[in-house]
Amino acid sequence: RHVLASVYVCIDYPDEDLADMSREEISEALSACAADLRGLCETYRTGHAVAEGIRTVICGRPNVGKSSLYNQIVGREAAIVTDVEGTTRDVLTETAHLGKVTLRLCDTAGLHDTADQVEQIGIQRARAELERAELILAVFDGSQPPTEEDLRLLEQIDGSSAPSVAILNKSDLSAGAHPSWNGMSLKNSVLFSARDGVGMQELTETVEALFVDGALDLRVDAVLTNARQHAAAIKALRALESAVESLRLGFPMDACCTDAEAAMEALSELDGRAVSEDLVSEIFSHFCVGK
Ligand code: GDP
Repeated sequence: RHVLASVYVCIDYPDEDLADMSREEISEALSACAADLRGLCETYRTGHAVAEGIRTVICGRPNVGKSSLYNQIVGREAAIVTDVEGTTRDVLTETAHLGKVTLRLCDTAGLHDTADQVEQIGIQRARAELERAELILAVFDGSQPPTEEDLRLLEQIDGSSAPSVAILNKSDLSAGAHPSWNGMSLKNSVLFSARDGVGMQELTETVEALFVDGALDLRVDAVLTNARQHAAAIKALRALESAVESLRLGFPMDACCTDAEAAMEALSELDGRAVSEDLVSEIFSHFCVGK
């Protein structure tokens, strides 16, 4: 709200008032707006994680406990857990909550090579899922030393743009992780036992730390919660930046006004919790007066 208010203040200068403000003053005001708007845009990471949910992929070689983890998170027997290798053939998706974060979970077939045709389809899909993931939960049998396949997966998630958490499962079998995991420099790792439900708290905290800005009060602060709002806010921000730039380059005031107007237009696309519609229309009516 206060972002919009400040945009309002600095854009509410119908042409005849422009003479009252120096170009520096206008530029400063617009820059301040842009800074506020940038802050608003940054709330999207949290808003998206909480409201829309992050695309989450669970991966790991067969039998390490992916389905068991999935069930732990989802909280019921959604995936079939079995002792037979490679039986998770389909990509299941489910929405679940991990603390404040909403996960859109895809349980995937293991990313291992296999001759099995049906498995093959599952694995290709799994790879595609991994590329589109916003969060990767990589499951390992932590009671055993890492295998070649585990190391390949670690390398793969390291090179991925999405954050990942290494879940060292089956800690109940070895009273902790196998010593050889200690030497590995894992960015985020959680000691886990899907069987005993150990590690859920730590996993929750780890994921929240990755996605939720603790400084935000979701009940009070304006937070962008969906992609459309985010796109609108980014568009408005770009327009404001362009307005500031055209001032800096000494372009006529008209150019700046056009950009500022575009910023308002983009902001009017915002709605929901971030911006009240009344406020937008109020601002708009102000802005249009004197044109
Ligand atoms: P996936 O193939 O990776 O999906 O693995 P599953 O979740 O199907 O589990 C494979 C086997 O490991 C099953 O027999 C599970 O009961 C067992 N398992 C999974 N997690 C744990 C765990 O934390 N501790 C122990 N002891 N066994 C587990």
